[in-house]
Amino acid sequence: MTAAIRLPVAPRPFRDELLTSWMVRVATRYGLEVPELTVYLAGQGGGAPDLRKISDINPDPGLLRLWARSCSIDPARLERLSLKSRYPERPRDWFVDGAGGIVPACLACFDADLASGQDGYMRAEWRLAERVVCPAHREMLRDRCPACGCHLRTSFRMRDGRLRPFCRKCDGLLTGRGGEVAVRSAAEFANAVLGLQRRAGRIVRARADLLAPLEQVIRTLWAPLDRMDAARPVLALWVDEPGWHCPFEVRAAVGTPAPLQSLPVRWRALTLVVLQDLFGAALVSDGTMPEAVSRLFRRTAPTPYLSRESARRQQRNEPLRVFRRPISPCYATISSAFRFS
Ligand SMILES: [Zn+2]
Ligand SMILES: [Zn+2]
Repeated sequence: MTAAIRLPVAPRPFRDELLTSWMVRVATRYGLEVPELTVYLAGQGGGAPDLRKISDINPDPGLLRLWARSCSIDPARLERLSLKSRYPERPRDWFVDGAGGIVPACLACFDADLASGQDGYMRAEWRLAERVVCPAHREMLRDRCPACGCHLRTSFRMRDGRLRPFCRKCDGLLTGRGGEVAVRSAAEFANAVLGLQRRAGRIVRARADLLAPLEQVIRTLWAPLDRMDAARPVLALWVDEPGWHCPFEVRAAVGTPAPLQSLPVRWRALTLVVLQDLFGAALVSDGTMPEAVSRLFRRTAPTPYLSRESARRQQRNEPLRVFRRPISPCYATISSAFRFS
């Protein structure tokens, strides 16, 4: 990495941009992918860079120096783009894992980028685990392409001198305009969830005393129901629909210690709604557990990350309905608005 290659032109990062989004914008200007450009920048004498260390959360300092030098940017400025630097106190579990390059996005933000004459770019906040609604546009983030329905992997292409966002799968332009008419119930749902998202964010940021109980309840909601190998999570009790099957897209999160990391946006939103049903707007109890929650906990299968006590209790036969109000209509609304399947 000694013979520095300097790129003649490289866009500057936006203040709230994901590090890899900026890297993609630089690489795209040279018709390359980020790994290809990284190898090129490392040059002949530098040896093969470890491309696995390209990370939004905790990027490799050597790779950052390489990119900084090549783009004539202060390395500290790039370091400040990393999620570890932006959110030093935030537990790693509270970042969306971004597996497979799937990072949710607000299409209205992309439209705003175009309107202000700048490149489209990915926002750092889109990787916060509790972030499901864009506060600026009050719309749900998208992790499915509105055109092809596939998992949303955003790529960028040059159009009229600016980078615009496209679906990597179908090549469709990602825009909120001209698409489906906003469903009113979806807008109302997004508004309601925005308040819950803010509350969850405050707990993660500033209420260390409530964070552990919050994590415990979320883990419990997504723990297997009754048996270790159950395909349904405890959250199925909230859905309360006979014959309800856990959709394929969320099965991988069932029984994991930090389900929000890997859940799709709408299921993270639904988790917040269930927390509200259980605890009210506070989302978590700072004292005694409500009876409904205690009963819910008894239905979980014994899992390594839940307490031994709950493992001992799980054999008891408890009635299914544990919530304070009928919830099926609410689920139906969400289901039709966001096409749960
Ligand atoms: Zn937005
Ligand atoms: Zn697509």
